[in-house]
Amino acid sequence: MAMKAILVDNNRCIGCRGCMVACKSWNNRKTSSTRFFSGAGYQNPQNLNEDTWTLITYNELSVGGRFNWVFGNMRCMHCDEPGCASCCPGKAIEKLPEGPVVYDKNRCLGCRYCLLACPFLVPKFEWSDGLTPQITKCTMCADRVTNGGIPACVKACPTQALTFGDRDDMIAEAEERIRRHPSRYVHQVYGKDEVGGTCVLHLSQVPFEQVGYKTNLPQKALLEYTEPAMHAVPPLIVGLALGLSATYKVIQRRIKLADENEQRKEEIHD
Ligand code: SF4
Ligand code: SF4
Ligand code: SF4
Repeated sequence: MAMKAILVDNNRCIGCRGCMVACKSWNNRKTSSTRFFSGAGYQNPQNLNEDTWTLITYNELSVGGRFNWVFGNMRCMHCDEPGCASCCPGKAIEKLPEGPVVYDKNRCLGCRYCLLACPFLVPKFEWSDGLTPQITKCTMCADRVTNGGIPACVKACPTQALTFGDRDDMIAEAEERIRRHPSRYVHQVYGKDEVGGTCVLHLSQVPFEQVGYKTNLPQKALLEYTEPAMHAVPPLIVGLALGLSATYKVIQRRIKLADENEQRKEEIHD
């Protein structure tokens, strides 16, 4: 199977968040509590988190002299040469030939190096799981893709703001849209060359930095920076990371016991 990619086009996105719902539904992720924060209007939640693997960002911008909503789409970019995988001491993260970058929770040591190595700040740690925390992120629905299906978010999108196919075809399609509508698009396919190429590609109607995309990235893979650095990290740091996880578990256990004691006291007095 040829390497696949998702093409994201914010000219076609209406901000319905159907992709976010489909992602949670297929991947069995919890909902996040809604809260208001300044700066981004109706966006929720504020950032990717352990249960939100794709996020529509709300950006009110001047487009062609008029204020308009432009929606960003944050998710794992499924890098061709992923920094997250190169630094993982447990070899828990793997790039599949079909494109998805996936992880094996049974091999995750909880060290969180991948959080630091990702140029897009994507992986999140399951702080809420005191017993078997792991990193979480979009898997490009590898269970669907490797069986000939398309990602759940792409299937749910009502406007074809998300399309899926062979990476070469998606690049050709993106370049064709720019050629046909040069005034509608920034003349760049984001992800074609960034950090050596990615399997999520973006088209935008406004400069990419205005919708929160990093634009100061090298055009080659980051592996040559991360690998030597990770080999130089002493095992002591891995031990420290694991120790912090254990401490977190103990604290969570104490909070739970305190809650149970309070509840028992209330029941006795009732
Ligand atoms: S975007 Fe980050 S988490 Fe996703 S494959 Fe690339 S380095 Fe890994
Ligand atoms: S590809 Fe799958 S896991 Fe990734 S954002 Fe879409 S629905 Fe979620
Ligand atoms: S489902 Fe499609 S149109 Fe709706 S928010 Fe997601 S990308 Fe945009």
